[in-house]
Amino acid sequence: MDVTFVANDRVYNVPRRPVLAVCADGWDPEYVDDALERSLMPRLAESLSAGGMYRLGRAQVPTFTNPNNVAIVTGVCAASNGVAGNHYRNECGEEVQVTDPVFLRATTIYAAAHAAGVEVLCVTAKDKLRRLLAVGDVPAFSAECAHEQTLADGTPVTEVLGSGNPGIYDWQLSPYTIDLAVALAERLQSKLVYASLTDFVQHAAAPGAPMSDDFYRAVDAALGRAIDAGFVVGLAADHGMRSKTGADGRPNVRFLDEALAEAGVASGHTLCPITDPYVVHHAALGSMAWVHVDDADELDRARSALAALPGVEGVLNRSAAADSFDLPPDRIGDLVVLADAQTVLGKSRQAHDISALHGELRSHGGLHERPVPIIVCERLAVDGLAGRELHNRDLHDLLLNHLA
Ligand code: ZN
Ligand code: ZN
Repeated sequence: MDVTFVANDRVYNVPRRPVLAVCADGWDPEYVDDALERSLMPRLAESLSAGGMYRLGRAQVPTFTNPNNVAIVTGVCAASNGVAGNHYRNECGEEVQVTDPVFLRATTIYAAAHAAGVEVLCVTAKDKLRRLLAVGDVPAFSAECAHEQTLADGTPVTEVLGSGNPGIYDWQLSPYTIDLAVALAERLQSKLVYASLTDFVQHAAAPGAPMSDDFYRAVDAALGRAIDAGFVVGLAADHGMRSKTGADGRPNVRFLDEALAEAGVASGHTLCPITDPYVVHHAALGSMAWVHVDDADELDRARSALAALPGVEGVLNRSAAADSFDLPPDRIGDLVVLADAQTVLGKSRQAHDISALHGELRSHGGLHERPVPIIVCERLAVDGLAGRELHNRDLHDLLLNHLA
């Protein structure tokens, strides 16, 4: 019997074969193109030549991990699902991590499928996403903390795959996440499986660097194992990745609180929505920032001071930014600051530990990291896809509703 369910007004059909949807963290299209060109991903190449799809789509802006994972698992934009950053400033003026399901304003596809009786599973590399993915009693595990987790029957999670979990700053954590997702899915008979990777490698290494090559070869082998195990496999990146390093080898960063102070704006506070526990990745420096200006009389002065900074290519007020990028107005700043492709935005020199970075800064968050690969390793029915602009949040629609 065919099973269908509804999530956020869209109907999804559960295929007979199990589905593995992968959020490929930080996979700028450059990595995929380079890996295919140099034959580092033979299994992906084989799937594409057998009729699979590889197209560029759009990510949710700001191009950070939590907003895009949530867009992918809800199938709707941030204005509808409520998650506009990894981090936000609440009604009391406190900065909080967006890791609690209380922030979700839409159901997830996994919660809706689970409620309809479909066996589902979410496995994330970074533990910070696990609670968001577990909403609706969805079984959710993280590769980062797999050594601390057990199945409902008491079996240690690492025992299911039979190998210990690599650390959060190990390039092997993402391929491990895919293998763990497949092993757990086979054990739990899951039909709809989400695996969310980590962008440690993409923050640290450009396309063609030795660690990138090792990573894409290993991920391709893991995807091949999922295909061989009978899974329908698809991937969408949460955002791209670019070098944000100046000619002097230092991060190309503008400190917004310093610019506001210089302009005499006393009530301004910068919030970096990239902020998360993984500071070695990016030192909380991304290409988009929120600025809160508590005294409305200072708003124009703040806007002019920020817009005048080199490397800033736009400053939008709250409602214009919400309209332009499908954002929830109450979860962003009074001003939204957009950096150019080579620049990142921070608060002040003291607020960011740049010494924590591994080598040169590569990061994301702005408009220049919006194009993302969307891949389905299966032939799709062309109906309804020709000419359609794709977003990463369409991944589950493609995998569940458009297989040939
Ligand atoms: Zn990410
Ligand atoms: Zn990142």
